[in-house]
Amino acid sequence: MAKNLSGMEIFKLLPKTNCGECGVPTCMAFAMKLAQKNAELSACPYASEEAAKVIGAASEPPIRLVKFGAGKRTVEMGNELVMFRHEKTFVHQTALAVQIDSDLSPEMIIKIAETVERHVIERAGEKLFIESLLINDGKKTAAEFRASVTIAAEHFSGALILKSGSAENLIAGAESVFDRVPLVHALTRNNADVLGEYVRAKKLPVVIAGESLDDIFQLSEALSSRGHRGIVLDLSSDNSAAMLQNNTVARKAALAASVKPMGYPIMNFVTGRLNVSEMVADASTSMCKYASLLVVDNYEPETLLPLLMLRQNIYMDPQKPIQVEPKIYSVGEPSPASPLLVTTNFSLTYFIVSGEVEASGVPAHLAVVDAEGLSVLTAWAAGKFNAEKISSSIKSQESAAKMTNRKLVIPGYVACLSGELEEKMPEWEILVGPQEASDIGPFMKKMAG
Ligand code: SF4
Repeated sequence: MAKNLSGMEIFKLLPKTNCGECGVPTCMAFAMKLAQKNAELSACPYASEEAAKVIGAASEPPIRLVKFGAGKRTVEMGNELVMFRHEKTFVHQTALAVQIDSDLSPEMIIKIAETVERHVIERAGEKLFIESLLINDGKKTAAEFRASVTIAAEHFSGALILKSGSAENLIAGAESVFDRVPLVHALTRNNADVLGEYVRAKKLPVVIAGESLDDIFQLSEALSSRGHRGIVLDLSSDNSAAMLQNNTVARKAALAASVKPMGYPIMNFVTGRLNVSEMVADASTSMCKYASLLVVDNYEPETLLPLLMLRQNIYMDPQKPIQVEPKIYSVGEPSPASPLLVTTNFSLTYFIVSGEVEASGVPAHLAVVDAEGLSVLTAWAAGKFNAEKISSSIKSQESAAKMTNRKLVIPGYVACLSGELEEKMPEWEILVGPQEASDIGPFMKKMAG
């Protein structure tokens, strides 16, 4: 097992020119990222051979970063460092894929691809959607599989996964959508030579599947020893308990014992289940521990909704509050004569305040100030929600200049800011609103007269 090096030990081996080509401004910052296993030494083009020898293995993330898809729809998996989120954080959320069988009619393939493409829900300021489509070869010829892949790709802009038992079909399909960087499923004992050579030459990510964990270990070791790092491990099982066990063993082996062939993202199929409840339950287990990529074969909204919401809850980083964009929002249909309320950009605060204002039936403007995602009292205590920030934020918004009402309502918890705000915004009447969101409704009605 490679010895862990401290940031300072790594820094001593770097060129110390601070050229920034590694993506961070200084060699020290890069050394810190390497020590945290959040970067790879190959990002520094000037690292010496000695540095590569000493730092190389020590700085490799225990679970490699693997990408597929292109442009804005690139899916990133791996780089995970912990077994449990509370130890630090999970880095990449489970990517979701919907499976389409290639022997469906072109019309049906188009229908499913477009349905998945359109399935976007907005929750707590985030857009939740399905990242990927898997085209499963229904024992077609290479030309037929390629045609189905092309149709699906034309009607889905996200990342693509191609699955077939035939290396010939996989290569034909991959060539047809090569610029979309598809993930190829799967390299097995039967096709390891042909497919291994192809993905290595084309630098395409590939899934390894096998009869057992041991089988997958050996295939992964063989492929990575030939320099290919774009590997995903298919640890699926029809039995949810077995899949959970496979996932946990692989994650532990990679993190706790630095078993390199297991240090790749995990893929699980939850397909062919008898009913939707069973599918959602098994998919949830897989998402909780430790699938980086999860494939389902149901695209109905009632199936996807719980998975998208569960995923958001698991992978939301508790150290980074979710935020809404700082700007002035309209609640109801406010006119220039409507009042202006102000709050912070912590999304929970925004959604509660805007919900209460909307329920009051009194249209209003709501100014959301950048307080680094903190709630009102916390932001005020941290000096991130003060009179200076509020006044400069509102003055920077064009829409505020057009307001004729000139009544600015601040949260009751920061009533102490009213005096300073009156000095900074003399053209506005500063009103102190309620402390609790539940009192916003009566307050708004009273203000509206
Ligand atoms: Fe330092 Fe290398 Fe990064 Fe340049 S690319 S800042 S030399 S670590």
